[in-house]
Amino acid sequence: MSGLSYICDEYGSNSEDSDTDKGQEFDRPKLPAPNLSKVVVVASHTHTDNPELHGGRSRLFPHVRGNWASFVYVNYDQIDAVCNLIDKLEEVVVTKSESCHRCDDFHISLSRTFVLKYHFISAFSSSLHKCLANTESFHLGFGAVKIYCNEDCSRTFISLEVDPFAQKHLQEISNKVDQVLTEFQLPPFYENPSFHMSILWVNGDKKFELESILDELNEILSQEVEKSLHAVLVETINCKSGNKYFQYKLR
Ligand code: AMP
Repeated sequence: MSGLSYICDEYGSNSEDSDTDKGQEFDRPKLPAPNLSKVVVVASHTHTDNPELHGGRSRLFPHVRGNWASFVYVNYDQIDAVCNLIDKLEEVVVTKSESCHRCDDFHISLSRTFVLKYHFISAFSSSLHKCLANTESFHLGFGAVKIYCNEDCSRTFISLEVDPFAQKHLQEISNKVDQVLTEFQLPPFYENPSFHMSILWVNGDKKFELESILDELNEILSQEVEKSLHAVLVETINCKSGNKYFQYKLR
């Protein structure tokens, strides 16, 4: 245990990573100094990533205290309909890849994952709020199954590409999000973004293998789109920064 985490355990967490209400200051009773003589001290910036703890995934950038991984997205909440579809797609995907994982949540990204310093979060969120004001709500459905690789090709995603109508709306929103990212000197989204919702992923670059079964996967998608995977109305845009969640209402 590091000296720092020992102190946190003794005195209760005062971490900047928590989203608790800071509230009013008040006088606390003084606690006795902890005995740190038997504690092995590890430099506070030392963080060893263990990909086994997150399904073999490796971080794209190192964990640094005070840096909050952030991204902007549309949340998708038709979980039952998507899970039905995944059950069926999975049966075909496992014929090409021995281990295949379900995505933890369902969203359509409007930014890459970027790093925000804690003290910039609120200003960033306000800018996003201003920029998205007067943006119209729209319907979103899925047109096709598409395969994507992440930037370092360490993971391949089986995703649902958003229909052309929603692509157009998302492109407009993405342009606004890019303006805010630029204002904060953060990297914009893809030059030619292809808006999609990832549902399954496999380790490594399996694009070639998975593209060979696209016809079968698309056949299953069209059956589910007819039965239960209907278009949804998108009325909010979301931003996550560390464990803070922000929501911006569309018109
Ligand atoms: P996501 O489900 O949003 O995390 O996207 C899965 C992966 O698709 C991400 O790691 C992206 O880097 C990747 N990707 C590759 N090409 C594109 C593209 N043209 N537009 C959006 N995402 C892309």
